[in-house]
Amino acid sequence: MQDTQEVAVLRLGHRPGRDERMTTHVGLTARALGADRAILAKDGASQQGTIEDITDRFGGPFAVETTDNPIGFIEDWDGTIVHLTMYGLPVQDVETEIRTDHEDGPLLVVVGAEKVPWDVYENADYNVAVTNQPHSEIASLAVFLDHLFEGAELDREWEDADRNVVPQAAGKRVDEA
Ligand code: SAM
Repeated sequence: MQDTQEVAVLRLGHRPGRDERMTTHVGLTARALGADRAILAKDGASQQGTIEDITDRFGGPFAVETTDNPIGFIEDWDGTIVHLTMYGLPVQDVETEIRTDHEDGPLLVVVGAEKVPWDVYENADYNVAVTNQPHSEIASLAVFLDHLFEGAELDREWEDADRNVVPQAAGKRVDEA
């Protein structure tokens, strides 16, 4: 069952041998910047363990799962769908409307790798661009989540961490929890 306040990130189009780090970083960025769950299309499933390992060590909650039917996952989503694409509407023009929609239900953020099937554009409630310039799914996800949460995700508290990073002006300090 979907949590009405949930923000989930669906990573499409992982290319084995090319996208391992990108898919891992989509998951880690989703986790660090306030999403609740990442769903990896099947070819990216090998990255699930890496993301879960970071959650085990640095805290959660954050869930990772895989799907062998990402288009079906989108079609079945009972909430708002945002697809991040350089061809979409500027994030700064639609973020308020998206935030309002999200007050009433869960939000799915879809990012691609290679060419995204047309079905995704059609099923999305919002096709959203972070600038209309080509860059990366990691960058667009980070900027989108920061706009969605209006920066509040930066102050998130983490649960069940093995270790906590203690901010330092210089040097590294990590305390065992
Ligand atoms: N032609 C693609 C597109 O539709 O944005 C660019 C492919 S890019 C290598 C991989 C993914 O990065 C895209 O599927 C999209 O999710 C994201 N992306 C790249 N540039 C973006 C932008 N300016 N705004 C939003 N998302 C972007």
